[in-house]
Amino acid sequence: MYRGTEALVLKAFDLREADQILTVFSRDLGKIPVVAKGVKKPQSSLRGMVQPFCMSQFYLTRSGEMYLMTQGKIIRFFGNIREDLDKTLQALYILELLDKSLADYDPHPRLFKLTAEVFNYLEDNPASLILLNFFEIHLLNMLGFSPVLHRCSNCGQTEDLSFFSSSSGGVVCGRCAPSLKADAIMPAVQAVLNTLSRSGINILPRLRITSAVQKQVERVLEGYLEYYLERKLNLKNVMRTLKGFSNGKDN
Ligand SMILES: [Zn+2]
Repeated sequence: MYRGTEALVLKAFDLREADQILTVFSRDLGKIPVVAKGVKKPQSSLRGMVQPFCMSQFYLTRSGEMYLMTQGKIIRFFGNIREDLDKTLQALYILELLDKSLADYDPHPRLFKLTAEVFNYLEDNPASLILLNFFEIHLLNMLGFSPVLHRCSNCGQTEDLSFFSSSSGGVVCGRCAPSLKADAIMPAVQAVLNTLSRSGINILPRLRITSAVQKQVERVLEGYLEYYLERKLNLKNVMRTLKGFSNGKDN
């Protein structure tokens, strides 16, 4: 018995000879390990599907703890992403974030839909850091780690919310900030986080954000993700080094 599901390859390792083991994020089964037999043979019909950055329909059979890929077809190949270094790095970061934040065999169809939207957007638009922030905050929301943005995450009051604390779970007020060692944020940062969190992807071209606000949004989300995922997000550092993103060139 086999089943079909849309999926995106998160990473691939060579197994033996012509085989690969893939980690894929699928719409119906969540993140799963998949054995792609014979995929490195030149005549394999599955070769195209395991290349980076394409959305494919996978046909899978269960084999113990793993799935075997039997057939498939490419739905969309993101060629513009692969040809542009900024877009490539951003797409890799998204794949890394998914890989690190999802548990195996735990379906998240809404997050899958969001990921497809973000890849389609990145394919058709210039790379922008705010797209990553949009993805990050929605990923956090969908995985049950929404940051508290409308009241102090420590005492609950709704005034003077000009600090942020990952360990406290969101924005904090001026009174709670010192004991939590919370970071000061500009008022626009809270507003941008709110807007991103409650909007669809179509908001992105209309957002006007200064590079100072952008940098704070990025730092807040990065710290929050690291705190809740308990892992270092290495790729953001790579992006910074390579492209000087933290210089505010890209907002
Ligand atoms: Zn407070």
